[in-house]
Amino acid sequence: MSEKPTVEEYLQNIQNGQFKAYKCVECGMVIAPPSGSCYGCGSSKMEWTNVSGKGTLVSFTVIHVAPDEFAEEAPYYIAIVELEEGTRVSARLLGFDPLKPEEVPLGSVVILDYEINKTGKKYLAFKPA
Ligand SMILES: [Zn+2]
Repeated sequence: MSEKPTVEEYLQNIQNGQFKAYKCVECGMVIAPPSGSCYGCGSSKMEWTNVSGKGTLVSFTVIHVAPDEFAEEAPYYIAIVELEEGTRVSARLLGFDPLKPEEVPLGSVVILDYEINKTGKKYLAFKPA
């Protein structure tokens, strides 16, 4: 497991329901989505790391007008979640009514899940813990 992580694998892991983040070999910073270099120290030496899947809901938006691929799924939430490990990812937010954004509790704990659309493609998602 010392091979350099790639974006392709990152996306494939999500399709496999096995989300993993990058971890900087030099300073230990956890990074997702993939970046070519560490936000902390600038190193490009990365390895895979498992994450707990727990995070905090930092912000969200409701997508009413979606790209063609997702048009039938709108409206839906896209959330920014800060993982326990310290990195922020954007993902679908499940478990809330997209027409009632005032009911979504910012700062609440959410856990990793996956959303599968009609074509069988999987997305990173979070739901209330
Ligand atoms: Zn680093």
